[in-house]
Amino acid sequence: MVTTKNATLTASIDEVMMNVLNAFNEYKKILPEQKANFLETIANEIEALGDALINQACEETNLPATRLTGERARTTMQLRMFAAMVKEGSWVEASIDTAIPDRKPTPKPDLRKMLFPLGPVIVFGASNFPFAYSTAGGDTASALAAGCSVVVKAHPAHAKTSQMVYEAIKTAIEKCNMPANVFQHVHDEGFKTGKDLVQHPATAAVGFTGSLSGGKALYDYANERKNPIPVFSEMGSINPIIFFPDTLEKNNEALVKMYSGSVTLGMGQFCTNPGLMLAIESDALNIFLKNLSEEVSKFTPSKMLHEGIQKAYVEKMQKALSQKGVDVIKNIFHQSNGVAYPKIAFTSGETFLQNPTLHEEVFGPYSLMVKCKDINELKRVWMSVRGQLTTSLMGTDKDFNEYKNIIEEAKTIAGRIIFNHPPTGVEVCPSMMHGGPYPATTDSRFTAVGINSVKRWVRPVCFQNCPEYLLPEELKNNNPKKIWRLVNNHFTNGDVA
Ligand code: NAP
Repeated sequence: MVTTKNATLTASIDEVMMNVLNAFNEYKKILPEQKANFLETIANEIEALGDALINQACEETNLPATRLTGERARTTMQLRMFAAMVKEGSWVEASIDTAIPDRKPTPKPDLRKMLFPLGPVIVFGASNFPFAYSTAGGDTASALAAGCSVVVKAHPAHAKTSQMVYEAIKTAIEKCNMPANVFQHVHDEGFKTGKDLVQHPATAAVGFTGSLSGGKALYDYANERKNPIPVFSEMGSINPIIFFPDTLEKNNEALVKMYSGSVTLGMGQFCTNPGLMLAIESDALNIFLKNLSEEVSKFTPSKMLHEGIQKAYVEKMQKALSQKGVDVIKNIFHQSNGVAYPKIAFTSGETFLQNPTLHEEVFGPYSLMVKCKDINELKRVWMSVRGQLTTSLMGTDKDFNEYKNIIEEAKTIAGRIIFNHPPTGVEVCPSMMHGGPYPATTDSRFTAVGINSVKRWVRPVCFQNCPEYLLPEELKNNNPKKIWRLVNNHFTNGDVA
């Protein structure tokens, strides 16, 4: 562990990076079964911290114990999920094309390809997920599963929680006899550490969850390097939701319940918070807006993750509300108790299209409803927002049949298209896509959630006419693990015919 608050910062980072690079050179050779056992042991050690870990996280983040207990369970589940993936083995995407020496006019060579780890990965812990996207969260678990060594830059908003998880990982390293420096933990009080980590020559890739300014800054540091490296930043999203006319007529009450819960969930501190709602003007829409505003005002707010986030929420909300043409339902009392409270605002399609300030994320329990003249204006509003993690379509079968072409457009702005559900709630499974076009992320081709998130930390290497005895086990003719691989265009888990 390194605490960098003085002039020795650069030297300290250099030492950390050289240690983690040396550890990578050992760790990448470790057998899948041992790697899987290591990931499972980290999960066990985190669970063994018991209530002490939950209490520490409650104290630092203002999040309730129930939420944190659930998040810890998700974190250990993710570690075990990657352990199972590593044991099974097909994630390396072994692909074998055998030679055809007598092919005319030219012989076909023997070509074999699979995925290999990139090298040391820097992970920036997220403030809003102290377990699942922090020290031993999805980025760390997937990078270790890939065979990369990891340096976590602890988030200062839960530094002590992060330290406890680091101690659990250290115990797992010792118990499993892993290279001592395969995981490193860095605290700091400024941006210089982050910049030095990203720009160190030994760094191979970066994972980040947080603000657009932070994620973009890391991306820019990486591109200033002599050898640019991939940065997978997951940043802001306002997750536009379309409420179609028939569902507003038929399901108004249920929609109010669903969305008041989603906007206020976790004080709105989720990247999937429903920040933008769109609908065509109607009486049913006005009823929905009034009831939704009243419903969220009954919510008892709590403190946000840290003072900086709370201050940013109030400032950004007030900035949005002060824009010309933006309004709220009047005479609604909010239970504030000195903490930030939820808010629903509304505006017209025309105002939204003319004012880019209204397109910005207000991180917290806030949502803006855009009342559009007709479906064409609604589509223009929808397409005017930049890349998103999700977009939700709320409709009946009548609505979907009437507006079916809209799905084509949905694909252009978001990584996940949700039907009849708010964007909050991210299932961890192979078919999940948690990513999207910039500025939702810096690389829309990858997900930060689920087993496919491992693809961020690997690259394919092809072996041409390589002697059998020099090939990695996965690419040998006789597949010792019987893992699934593509052989001459056919999937097989057996030997090369
Ligand atoms: P943040 O400010 O982006 O910081 C996250 C991490 O990145 C911290 O460790 C921070 O370092 C580092 N960092 C940020 N800017 C950097 C830079 N220019 N150079 C080097 N390192 C940098 O996120 P936050 O503290 O969690 O919250 C601040 C705001 O981010 C919130 O108000 C919200 O708007 C947004 N946010 C969005 C999401 C989302 O999922 N969309 C999640 C969390 C936060 P330090 O330790 O030195 O501060």
